[in-house]
Order: sequence, then structure tokens, then C-alpha cells
Amino acid sequence: MRKLSEVLHDWEAVIGLEVHTELTTLETKMFCGCRLSHDDPPNTNVCPICLGMPGALPVPNRKAIEYIVMAGIATNCEVMRRSMFYRKHYFYPDMAKNFQTTQGPVAFVMHGHLDLEIAGDGAKERPDGTIEKAIDGSYVAPIRILRIHMEEDAAKMVHVGGAEGRIGGASESLIDYNRCGTPLIELVTEPDLRTPEEARRFMEKLRQTFLTLGISDCSLEKGSMRCDGNVSLRRRGESGLGTKTELKNLNSFKSLHDALAYEICRQAEVLEAGGTVLQETRHWEPSRKRTVVMRVKETNDDYRFFPDPDLAPFDLSDEFIERCRARVPELPDTKRDRYVATWGLKRSDAAKLAGDPAVARRFEDASHGVKPQAVPMLANVMLNLVPAYKALTLLQITSITELLAADALSFSQARKVLEAVDGTGKMPLAVARDWGMLQSNDTEALAAVVDEVLGRCEAQVQQYRDGNKKVVGFLVGQCMKASKGAGNPKVFNQLLVQKLEG
Ligand SMILES: [Zn+2]
Repeated sequence: MRKLSEVLHDWEAVIGLEVHTELTTLETKMFCGCRLSHDDPPNTNVCPICLGMPGALPVPNRKAIEYIVMAGIATNCEVMRRSMFYRKHYFYPDMAKNFQTTQGPVAFVMHGHLDLEIAGDGAKERPDGTIEKAIDGSYVAPIRILRIHMEEDAAKMVHVGGAEGRIGGASESLIDYNRCGTPLIELVTEPDLRTPEEARRFMEKLRQTFLTLGISDCSLEKGSMRCDGNVSLRRRGESGLGTKTELKNLNSFKSLHDALAYEICRQAEVLEAGGTVLQETRHWEPSRKRTVVMRVKETNDDYRFFPDPDLAPFDLSDEFIERCRARVPELPDTKRDRYVATWGLKRSDAAKLAGDPAVARRFEDASHGVKPQAVPMLANVMLNLVPAYKALTLLQITSITELLAADALSFSQARKVLEAVDGTGKMPLAVARDWGMLQSNDTEALAAVVDEVLGRCEAQVQQYRDGNKKVVGFLVGQCMKASKGAGNPKVFNQLLVQKLEG
């Protein structure tokens, strides 16, 4: 198969995503009062409603509806005042009722968009002219969202055992109904994504948004956020749509990217050989890096959709919608722009901090403990140092930030200090002083090291005077060695240049 970049030169990929998110931060299930927890022993959080016993009547979880409306508002969707639950019938052991309660043609929220920053290359190729240029030269593409609807999750099946030679590998299937009835929101995008990388970034942005809303733990690892991808190809310059395939089992950002990349190349190969792409559902096999056919696509009619007679239609009041709107916190893009405006952070750093609500909160708390001009250094510390340690306190973070901002320590010295204070109550300033690190930034002590190095590196000194300014890097290295790594490379650099130019 050809490489993705070559394929995308001739073909345009048209990608849409369906993202399922479990509302894991709720206390109870969607239609009953069972505890919502996947960590309890199997089949302990069950009742006649979620087990689908005859005569059991569902009662919708009001909080779950608040959450889906918040998700809609955060993704610029229209809140539909009237919608209904439908039944989607199929037989499968993980759904005791033999139907899934989901929504019909009208979902709770519809017709929104989530803005995605894309690289210049991707923007030029977009014919629809809907792209705006962003401040830093990248482009902003609104990825349209068709709908977000509410449904319930099925039970969890675990396939175990497995005698040798047995087809499929497992000898028994176990079932845990704890997950059955977990409220699940399904977001469906329009096919506005054009590359696997854009799809991955959209998913990341959606995850950041839902994490910020606090409606789910959004764990791809645990399966509380899952993604299917639809992809078709068309020749560059064409506007019709090709036949799409649906990809399942994209349970990590890497799988999402790699499966789409593989599928784009596979479809191109089929089309270039004069074949036709079949509309089918395919399964991604990460270990073999390929997609395989799961089933030929069913049509909706097979599911016998009809409104659920046990659940009355919903009429959402203005008051309810406004209450949901008021509960939407500051979203990642707004937060990013505020960080840039308030502290002059680099836009990319600001976006990384703002994307994770826990990191953003910690960063803002720590910002009160440093001088305003040291906040960009704090951002650097939060992104590049803090993640490597287990239990740094806010005071330790602000102390190391001030030392770095004042140029009293180098980054490698800061790492050593943080290693020593992590999980203890010790302060970086005290440790750095005890270890003599702060003295070693004292210019006089370092000047002696510089003189010694310049004295024995005559060849390099000559090279510098002959115009090879880069050789100063070598000399800084010699000074670091001579000071046993205790000196500050920035100070060494300044002193060396002073002496060499003088
Ligand atoms: Zn229940």
C-alpha cells in the first residue's frame, strides 16, 4: 500500500466521528436508582428496571439530561425543546430488555460545532471557505456536530477460558450488568474532518471539553469514552461522497489515527485497482495494524425503531435550559485566550494548560504564589517539570519557579532539587542552598572556573576569535564539567562571551 501522505495528494478523505461518552460522574443509572460504579463486584448494582424484568417502569435521570444539555451548549448546539426516547430492538445477551432505549430523529441537542485549529496545509484544501485564520497563523475550522443524543449502555461481557483449538479462543462468556443502564451520550459529527490527525485532535478537544464540564472521567482506557470513525474517499477537486466504511474499536488516540490512516490507504488501493469500496463495518486490529470486516452494514429498519411508550416526551423549559447554561464553566478556548491575554503565555502552552481542568486549576492556584512576570516560567514548570514527579506541593512549585525565573538555577539543577523534595515537605530554596547550588551561581566563583577553562582551551578560544561563535557551546560544556554540573550554564555563557569579546 502507498504511504498516507502520497494517497492524500491524490485523494481527499471525508471523515466523520461518532463518540460515545458515559456520564460517569453521575451517582445513579439512566432509568433506575442503581448506583453507577464499574468498580463494584459484578452484578451488585442491578434492579428489575436495568435487568429488564416485565412490568418494571423506567424513570429518567434528571441530572443526566442536565449533563447532555450542558454538553450541547458547550459545543454550540441548539437545545431541542421537545424530544422523545425511542426503542432500538436487537437481541444480544448484554441487553436484557432486548431493546436499547435511545433517542429518535430529534435528539436533546442538535446542530452545533466545535472549532478545531488546523495546519495551513489542511486549510488550503478545504473548498467550502468556512475557515478563518487564527492569530498564530494556523486556521480555525468549525467541525459541525449533527446531534448529541442520550442512550443507555449495555452490560459488560467478558470472554474467558479457552481450550486449545477452540474457535474464537474463549470457552465461557461472563456478564456483568453493573454497566447496563449507564447513561451514555452519543455525539455524531458531520463528515467535516479531512485527515487522521484532524480526527485525533477533534477527539482530544472533545475530551478536554467534556472533562471541563465534569460530566465524565473521559477515560479511553477504561472505555468511558469510545469512538467509531466513518471514512470515504473522493478524488481531489470532486464534491460528491464515496462509499464509506465504519471503523470500530478505536479505543485510544493512536488507534483512532492509525485505523483511519490504514483505511484511507486501503480504500485508495481498492479504488485505484478499479474496485469498489463496500459499505461495511470494520474492526481495527492494533497488533496487526489493519482493519478487518466485521459485518455488512445493517439499515435502521432492522432495528424496529419506535417511541418508547413507557417514557413521556420531554418538554424542556426555558428555566431548565438557562440553569444548564449557567452551569457551563469557562471552556478550554476561552481559558487559553485569557492566559495569553493576562500573562503573555505562548498560545500553545496556554492551550495545553487550559485543556486539562485539573492542571489548569493547579496552575492558577500556583500563579497567586509567584510574581506576575514569573508566570510564563510557571507555565513552563507546570508543563515540563511537574508531570515527572508524584507529589509536589503548590509551595514547592512556586519556589522552584521563582528560582528558575531569577536564573538562580538551571533546569537540570531544578530537576535534581525536585527529585529530592518530591513527597517531602522540604522547600526547593533550602535544598538548593544546602547543596551549594545558589553559591555556584555567584559570578565570582564561576568566573574562576571560566578563567581556568579559557586557560586550557587555547585552540577553541582562537576559533572563537576567528569567527566561529558556536564554539562557546563547547566551552560552556567544559565549565559545567569543571564545576561538576553545579554552575548555571546561562551564567557561564554570559561570562564566557564577556571575556572572549573583551
Ligand atoms: Zn437498576
